[in-house]
Amino acid sequence: MMPFTYNGLPSRVIFGQATLARVAEEVQALGCQRVLVLSTPEQEGQARQVLDQLGELGADIFPGARMHTPVETTEEAMRVLASLGADGVVAIGGGSTIGLGKAIALRTGLPQLVIPTTYAGSEMTPILGETKEGLKTTQRTLEVLPETVIYDVDLTLGLPVGMSGTSGLNAIAHAVEALYAQDRNPIVSLMAEEGIAALARSLPTIASNPTDATARSDALYGAWLCGACLGSVGMSLHHKLCHTLGGSFDLPHAETHTIVLPHAVAYNAEAAPEAMSRIARALGTEDAAAGLYDLARAVGAPLALRDIGLNEDDIDRATEIATANPYWNPRDIEPDGIHRLLRDAYAGRRPT
Ligand code: NAD
Repeated sequence: MMPFTYNGLPSRVIFGQATLARVAEEVQALGCQRVLVLSTPEQEGQARQVLDQLGELGADIFPGARMHTPVETTEEAMRVLASLGADGVVAIGGGSTIGLGKAIALRTGLPQLVIPTTYAGSEMTPILGETKEGLKTTQRTLEVLPETVIYDVDLTLGLPVGMSGTSGLNAIAHAVEALYAQDRNPIVSLMAEEGIAALARSLPTIASNPTDATARSDALYGAWLCGACLGSVGMSLHHKLCHTLGGSFDLPHAETHTIVLPHAVAYNAEAAPEAMSRIARALGTEDAAAGLYDLARAVGAPLALRDIGLNEDDIDRATEIATANPYWNPRDIEPDGIHRLLRDAYAGRRPT
């Protein structure tokens, strides 16, 4: 067996249906007496539901979380936190709201309880991306890893079908890259394969029947595993490309992941044969890249970067940015190959 190093991440996970009912006891277990509940404006109703559950342990809500964790939003939330004398945060929502909780934890050291409602996986990672004056920087520190995560399947039943598919493929992307990561290890690879399989079998069902509780439960379980992969090992080409496309061309996060993934996998296929056979096995297909493309199509996700706002003229600059700084990838980063990959993703061609 290949030698490896494994770091277990210290977080407590509660998983099931109706688990939101446990939020007060879990806040107490963290030693908090007065917590601020965070959400986006769109999820203010769910934040109020959490505040109700918390009773005296809830200070108030801050429904101002925004995409890409802008520093100004964090500062505004910090002022509210201080004025209320809050001693912890509860974040309910997707990666944007969880990012705000992490940014507050970084600045205050306060404990976080997170209730994820998408499949993006941020709750399981010690990673924080923040935006200041239009520039997004990412850091990795255990200080931002949430102490407690409550997965409540019921809260995901209303995740719109379109977002469910793209958010699920965003999660799969973490597991795919974990399988060929330079610092991969047998435990994380097991989680990755299981995470891909759980999402691959549930996402098509969710697309046709979004309130199917079994499929929603499988998808959230898969998202947990995939998030743990992202938090544990390094990512490579696929995440770098999506970071470039999101950061420099303002493309939407989950859709970009969904479209780029089959092409990044096709690019790496020959350099990572074992990962490819594990991905294909988890998907129940012959070929990893084509299987991911077909899964995206089956859930009705967008398949072409041109359909989500990329201009053909942007491909040259995207290639330049994505190949400017060296980073590890199973296959060398070759500008011609990356340009071809982006052209295929732009047009939405099925990898063969
Ligand atoms: P998001 O948090 O931006 O949510 C998108 C929208 O969907 C928001 O309006 C949100 O309120 C709404 N929403 C969320 N759950 C819902 C539900 N169940 N029902 C109805 N509406 C719901 O989207 P996301 O894809 O979860 O997160 C993307 C962001 O997270 C990006 O900025 C990305 O960089 C970051 N992220 C960070 C990490 C990390 O480890 N640091 C990991 C993954 C994603």
